[in-house]
Amino acid sequence: MSFFAKSAPRSDTLEVLGETVTVVRKAQKNMYLSVRPDGTLRVTCPFSTDDGEIIRFVSSQADWLRKRKAAVDQRAKTAGLEYKDGDAVPLWGTFYPLAVRNARPYGVSVQDGTLVLNVPAGSTREERAALVESLYRAQFKAAVPPLLRRWQPVLGVAASGVTIRAMTTRWGSCNTRTGHVTLNLRLVEKDPRCLEYVVVHELCHLIVPDHSRAFWNCVARCVPDWRKIRALTNEAVKEPLDE
Ligand SMILES: [Zn+2]
Repeated sequence: MSFFAKSAPRSDTLEVLGETVTVVRKAQKNMYLSVRPDGTLRVTCPFSTDDGEIIRFVSSQADWLRKRKAAVDQRAKTAGLEYKDGDAVPLWGTFYPLAVRNARPYGVSVQDGTLVLNVPAGSTREERAALVESLYRAQFKAAVPPLLRRWQPVLGVAASGVTIRAMTTRWGSCNTRTGHVTLNLRLVEKDPRCLEYVVVHELCHLIVPDHSRAFWNCVARCVPDWRKIRALTNEAVKEPLDE
């Protein structure tokens, strides 16, 4: 066998967790798993890796995979949105139809279950997206203080401040040294219980910094069904069913 034949990557597929995984064996030391932009899975690994090792590796990443796939799904959907009349936009766990009108005053509002965008004639996708984003921020900003007022006294802690930011890899974070909490703006697309769970999660970090049993006990005191809500947080928002 020539040198080139031996070191050329070899591509295969495997079924793991009900998914078809593209396996590329090549000259590398470690095994890596990724979710492609089209939602399919790909593993790259050393030539010597057998199928059993790959199946075990992919299975051990089930939680991570679910999260990545949901994020990829959601982004693909949102990235494909033109924000045109009749498009559906996620807000608090449900899809709202957009009504795009050439009317004043320019701006965005929620009216009878419809997101109304008043825009000048010839508005661009970016302008319409920015309006939806401003609604997201306003809705999110209004939703946080009642949650803090509800849960801070219960837990006996207080966040020193809250930042809302669109993030791609986490729903929230807590700086346990400064007490500052950061929340992912994308939670505005999810069921409101998801934001509540993340707020409680980050506040509990002010008591228990790690994810130990004591930490999850703290979360469970406030959100007994946190496992269910956490799963919901990591799922893509469901499309509305046709009536
Ligand atoms: Zn945490």
